[in-house]
Amino acid sequence: MKTPTLLALTLLLTVACTRPNQPTRLQGEAQGTYYNIAYFDPQHRNLRPQIDSLLHSFDTVASLWVENSLIRQVNRQEQPQLNSTFTDLLDKSLAIEQYTQGAFNCKIGALVNLYGFGFKNRDDVTDTQIDSLLHILQQGQCHYQDSSTKDRLILSEGIELDFNAIAQGYAVDLLADMFDQKGIHNYLIDVGGEVTAKGCKPDGSSWTVGIERPAEDKYSQQEIETAIQLNNRSVVTSGSYRKYYEQDGVRYSHTIDPATGRPVNHSLLSVSVVSRKAWYADALATAFMVMGLDKSLQFIKLHPENPDIQAVFFIYDDHQGSYKTYATPEFNILIK
Ligand code: AMP
Ligand code: MG
Repeated sequence: MKTPTLLALTLLLTVACTRPNQPTRLQGEAQGTYYNIAYFDPQHRNLRPQIDSLLHSFDTVASLWVENSLIRQVNRQEQPQLNSTFTDLLDKSLAIEQYTQGAFNCKIGALVNLYGFGFKNRDDVTDTQIDSLLHILQQGQCHYQDSSTKDRLILSEGIELDFNAIAQGYAVDLLADMFDQKGIHNYLIDVGGEVTAKGCKPDGSSWTVGIERPAEDKYSQQEIETAIQLNNRSVVTSGSYRKYYEQDGVRYSHTIDPATGRPVNHSLLSVSVVSRKAWYADALATAFMVMGLDKSLQFIKLHPENPDIQAVFFIYDDHQGSYKTYATPEFNILIK
């Protein structure tokens, strides 16, 4: 019985000895944003080609910026054959829609387009246009032609899918799976501010992740409001303070309330959610932005059984030219 234990010990020591002191750091572009990845690989591999190829192939499925991506084909009613990444994104999105009582809705694409990227068309949008798209969203169909094969989608004319509120988080999870499969157990992955951390640094310390302070405007320098320790968890922030527009002194976020078809405009500036999976934190952060502070806190209280929505940090406007923060007790434990 002793031999296997000794062998395991020897193996562990060998791995510890070859573990590099400095992480490999890679930066690049994906999904219209950046990625920043640090990892400790005993084999010192450069994983940039694999990372870029994974992100690229994910974009060919879920990106609205890629002309011929699967989601764009679906939205053009071309009825393409779906693949498992697409159906997984859709199934997860529909499940979160149900869980959040419609606050999260991946069928919001036509409304997002109506307002235009960065809400640039907002002044031309009429109530009639909003109400007609809202009607289609609420009454239209979105289901598989055959629920056992899930290879084609029936989508009502006028409905467009938008996975942007979940895709970055999902991509972070795909990268994390790739690192796990390659036997790399200490890494920090950041795709456009959606972060997942696993393991620790060679000195045993945890990864630290900063939560951004609300900016004066979208051009201000990034500053850190608070920092948390993250181990085998993801943190995703959804917020209006970089992607927003201002009208009569009120900031409107890029998040649309599927119940009204209009941008949300309550006092919430940002929500950061800590979950085991980045896709989940991403989806819930968006849903909380729709619900606003009070409803989100009620929702969290109503679901004590769900560990993935307990550590949440809110930044909200105090209506006096400044902002306030609220951290749930579970989030406070993580603050460094
Ligand atoms: P996020 O930054 O993760 O909150 O994602 C915001 C993006 O998701 C927006 O730019 C839209 O493309 C899309 N979106 C807006 N409102 C919603 C909503 N209520 N549910 C799902 N996706 C949304
Ligand atoms: Mg999101």
